[in-house]
Order: sequence, then C-alpha cells, then structure tokens
Amino acid sequence: CGVIGIYSPDCDADIASLSYLALYALQHRGQQSAGICVSGEDGFESQRGLGLVTDVFEKEDLAEMSGNLALGHVRYSTTGSEKMINAQPLLTSSIKGDLALALNGNIINHSELRSNLEERGAIFHSDLDTEVIAHLTAHSFSDDPVEALVESLHKLKGAFSLVAMTENRLVAARDSRGFRPLILGKREDTYILASETCAFDILEAEKLREIEPGELIVIDGSGIQSRFYREQCQSSFCSFEFIYFARPDSIIGGQNVRLARKKMGWNLSQEAEIDGDIVVPVPSSGISAGLGFSEESGLPYKQGILQNKYIGRSFVMPTENIRDLQVRAKLNPISSIINDSRVILIDDSIVRGTTSRQIIKMLRSAGAREVHMGVSSPAVAYPCYYGMDTSRRQQLIAAEKSREEIREHIGADSLTYLSRKGLLAAINAADRDYCTACFDGEYPLAR
Ligand code: 5GP
Ligand code: SF4
Ligand code: MG
Repeated sequence: CGVIGIYSPDCDADIASLSYLALYALQHRGQQSAGICVSGEDGFESQRGLGLVTDVFEKEDLAEMSGNLALGHVRYSTTGSEKMINAQPLLTSSIKGDLALALNGNIINHSELRSNLEERGAIFHSDLDTEVIAHLTAHSFSDDPVEALVESLHKLKGAFSLVAMTENRLVAARDSRGFRPLILGKREDTYILASETCAFDILEAEKLREIEPGELIVIDGSGIQSRFYREQCQSSFCSFEFIYFARPDSIIGGQNVRLARKKMGWNLSQEAEIDGDIVVPVPSSGISAGLGFSEESGLPYKQGILQNKYIGRSFVMPTENIRDLQVRAKLNPISSIINDSRVILIDDSIVRGTTSRQIIKMLRSAGAREVHMGVSSPAVAYPCYYGMDTSRRQQLIAAEKSREEIREHIGADSLTYLSRKGLLAAINAADRDYCTACFDGEYPLAR
C-alpha cells in the first residue's frame, strides 16, 4: 500500500488536490482502492472507491474538500478481499473525537486482537488490520486520541507504517523494525508524509527525513513533536522494496532505487556464468537490472520486449489461466530483435513463475536460439508476513521446486538468481539492516 498525510498551517483549498497528486505518484504501491480524507471546518470529509486514483476521485468534489489536514491511501490487498468497505483511510468516531487512519503493512496478531475486542463487544465492519487499531484506540482509557493511539500501537505485532489524523493533529508512526517506508517532507510551510520520495517530487516538496523505526511524530499548530514510543530495535527494512516494489526514481535511505537495481544487475552479471548475444529486460520491472547487467557484461542492451502501458500489474489476476493470457496482453517480443539470438532475459524476481514461463515461450516463437534467465534477486521461497502479497506459500514456485525444476518449468536454457550477498552489496547493507526473510526464511519477527 501507499500512504500520505498533509498538514498545512492554514486552511488550504488545494489540500485534497495535493493529496490526489501525491497518491497518483504512489499508484504503483496499490491499484485496488484509493481514498482521501480531509479535516476541515465541517469535520472529516472523504472520498474512497475501488480502482485507480484516476478513476476514484471526482475533480470537482476534490476542489470542494478544503481543510488543513489530509490523509490518503492506495491499497494493495494482502488478504484478498477487494470490497469497498476495505478502502482506506478508515474513519472512526468515538467519545475521544474523530480519528482517521491509513496503514501500509500487516499486523501479524490481528486475528487475536480482533477476537479479544469482539469478546469485549466491538463490532467490526471490515477485514482491515487498520480497524483493529481503531477499536483498540476507542477502548483505551486515555481521553486523548493520540495517547490512546500510542497505547494501541504497543499491542501490535508486525509491520506498519501508519498515518493518522484527528480534527487538528497529523500523526505518523512506524513499527519498531521499520519494515515499510515512511518519509517526511516539506513544501513551503506545509508538511507532507509519504511512503516514497517520488510523491514529494510531484508536489515540488523537499525531503526532510525518514520517520525512524519505533518513532512517532505529531504535527500540529505548535510544530513537530517526535518521540520513540517503542525502544528502537534492529532495523529490518524490506529489501523487496528495493528489488521490486518502490518506484525507480524514489530515494530510500539515501539511495536511489534505480541505481540500486542497476547494481543488482552488475552483481548478477559478475556472478552468472552465462554466454549470450543480447541482454533483454522484462519491462518494466527488469529494466534497471538489465541495464546494469549489460554494462557489466559488455553485451548489448536491447529492448526486445514491448510493453503495453495501458495494462496494470499482471500479478493481481485471480486465476492461473487468466494470468497467463494477461502476460501476453501486456508483453510482446519484437521478432526482428530476438530472431536468431541467444537472449539473456533479465527480470527482478520470479514469484509464481507465470511471467517468465510465458515470456520465454513467446521469445522462442519469435525465433530466439537460446534463452538464459537472469533474476536480480534470490529465489523467493518463503512467504512474507510483513505486507507483501506472497503470503500463501504454495504460490511460490521456489518453495516447492529446485532451481533445476524451475528452469525446466519456465523453459529456459539456464537460470541464475542473484545471491543474497550480491543483493545486500547492491543496497549497501552495511548502512542498515534489511529483511530478507522471503529469500532465506530468517524472519526478524516471529509469527
Ligand atoms: P510471477 O509471474 O513469477 O508470478 O511474478 C513475477 C513478476 O511479478 C515479476 O516480473 C515481478 O516484477 C512481479 N512481482 C514480483 N513481486 C510482486 C508483488 O508482490 N506484486 C506484484 N504485483 N508483482 C510482483
Ligand atoms: Fe520484504 Fe521479503 Fe521481508 Fe516481506 S519477507 S518484508 S517482502 S524482504
Ligand atoms: Mg515484472
């Protein structure tokens, strides 16, 4: 998911439009639903809906939502249900006042917390982890909504980057290991929180700093207050953000994502023992690593596969059969480039194996003599419990099959994955610690 929060010192007629633009920049983080909530003179006003940012919001209505605080969310479901009721921000009301919440992450103990709350009479309206936070906050003894929220954060286990707002305060918090990103920026005297820096670029805002793991900040008329509501743990930032999830123009921990991906390609080229004529990336996720591979190997980089830009991420389709066809609708090889060549095909990851199997089939029909698959991440063999959509282990081809079996399944002449070491070197692992659990099963947090 992607989240944003905006605080403007004065009532700003453009706040909903600023939120819209920021969410537009974060669209790659979730395409299932989108929502904006503004706190203005008449309380909270919101627009939410299923689908893309450009489909959900009515521009005229946005123009009428003025206020000085806003939250926004784009949703990528990790639990599967794409109902309207699951669109965020989540709006709640209690004797403590109004509270809106938007979350990126996954609360591991959410079923347990939910059962406890239900036993105490709480009635849930959605499947959202976020709603657990809302009920915990409402049940707290503290009268102050922000203190009540902090109290509820202590009960959560898992990965969360959270933005929240009361009538006049904007709040941001990260779990104590900082799995998911959350960054603070500024545009004139307006503060902006966002999952990635690409949202600041679109608003001509400057990046101030990242919210730290275990940190909570409150922004209101008296400025920014920061505190560590939890003692800081060793950081476990998601390495998959660098590999696939984040936008290439974003900067994470001082590193440009595109450059990190190129380095993954360099390292893959150094590790791989593959001979070929051309390096062809799978668009668009394999492009940066493909460039890196080509630079390091000295083999020519060719855009031998065309991408239909009007098709969304193919991962989200429900059945294998439709996913297969969707890959063909999205990607098409260019025979004049591919014909009679030994192709080194580069993609960022293999999850189910659908994309690579289809593409390799198409490359062979287009006349490729050999297809060698290079993957700029290690094999994804373990499910993610921290907010990425790989939680059902049987979907992961590397959970069941050996490298040789995967090579056979996708129909490649050879298959090389980047080593864990090569990955960590590409993202300067010395500077901070990363989660690599989906590759090695070393979970930083027990389930
Ligand atoms: P596969 O076809 O093997 O199931 O998936 C691999 C492709 O999906 C890669 O091209 C990669 O860019 C993309 N991908 C990897 N992880 C994710 C994810 O968590 N969500 C989505 N939407 N796509 C992913
Ligand atoms: Fe990221 Fe993988 Fe860790 Fe999940 S398990 S947080 S996808 S590195
Ligand atoms: Mg891809």
